[in-house]
Amino acid sequence: MIYFDNNATTPLDERVLDAMMPFLKTMYGNPSSVHRLGRIAKSAVESAREQVAALVDAPPAQIIFTSGGTEANNLALNSALVMGKIAIGATEHPCVFEAAKRWQKQGKTLDIIPVNSVGIIAEDTIEKLIYSRPDIVSIMLANNETGTIQAIQDIAAKLTPHGICVHSDAVQALGKMPVSFRQLGVHLLSISSHKIYGPKGCGALIFDKSTPPHALIVGGGQEQDFRSGTENVAVIVGFGKAAELAKRELNERHDKVLALRSLLETELLKNARVTLFSCHTQRLPNTVLFGLDSIDGEWVLLKLDQVGIAVSSGSACASEATEPSPVLLAMGMVPEKAQTALRVSLSHHNTADEILKFVEIIHSLGK
Ligand code: PLP
Repeated sequence: MIYFDNNATTPLDERVLDAMMPFLKTMYGNPSSVHRLGRIAKSAVESAREQVAALVDAPPAQIIFTSGGTEANNLALNSALVMGKIAIGATEHPCVFEAAKRWQKQGKTLDIIPVNSVGIIAEDTIEKLIYSRPDIVSIMLANNETGTIQAIQDIAAKLTPHGICVHSDAVQALGKMPVSFRQLGVHLLSISSHKIYGPKGCGALIFDKSTPPHALIVGGGQEQDFRSGTENVAVIVGFGKAAELAKRELNERHDKVLALRSLLETELLKNARVTLFSCHTQRLPNTVLFGLDSIDGEWVLLKLDQVGIAVSSGSACASEATEPSPVLLAMGMVPEKAQTALRVSLSHHNTADEILKFVEIIHSLGK
């Protein structure tokens, strides 16, 4: 199996599994319990919070563990409970889109912030946004399909002096580029464990003290009352370990995937039918979105699957959809071209041999 779908999810790192195992076997205490097993679990959760905090350069006390990126984004958007006007980027993940649309159905105003042909929100668009006076703005740090990186630090610097709450979905950026909550200057930041070789079912929302979120789930008051429910200790421990490793190995992983991506793009471009999408902008080192002229991306995906290569034809989180990617349509791409899109998302586990094998098949399909 050649796994080139690391933006959909990543394999669990063995070292993460090792860290989790005791909490699945013998250390099964509830962190809220006063006895020894409870205290061990509580201490493990707090160590994980510190590991995650170190990766995103944020105070541990400002980290709320959630069930994943989807919940973190929903929790962030729940701030709209006491607000009137929401604005989100046109290429946001469906979990931001749907959360915002739900508020719209309840009478709040929703503006969609347009992107240019490479998926970037232009500076003058942000200037215009200020005049429309949204209460909360949600713009992702890096896009899951194109890998495009938004200038969130600059955007936040423009919006926050106007009292606008800024949220950023950093789920795809985490582990692939440095992510500093302090430097970005946002109020709310979402992250997820399974994109950084951690377990599924864990994520976090990082919040600024000036903008504490409104709980989606209420109950026993865990996570400072922002997210009730007995903590999923083993996966939180796994997220912590994955964060520690991502921080330590960030540069090494980055350089390796960047070299693989260069090889992939160079080899792909030897075929005149290949177009690279979104390549003339700041983007994640591991993501290549491309199309084979007049060939349906979904068809190529299935052909590759038959020979044991896993890629995506768009966002795997919305893989039921056979419509062209809304992200590419928002970038102004015609549906016929968007329909050809195929996403390769690499990891440091991939090799040059895998790239060459993949390219050979692509060239044979797109002769
Ligand atoms: N945001 C982005 C940009 C994503 O790519 C994803 C998942 O693919 C999510 C949010 C949702 O994260 P999770 O799968 O942890 O719910």
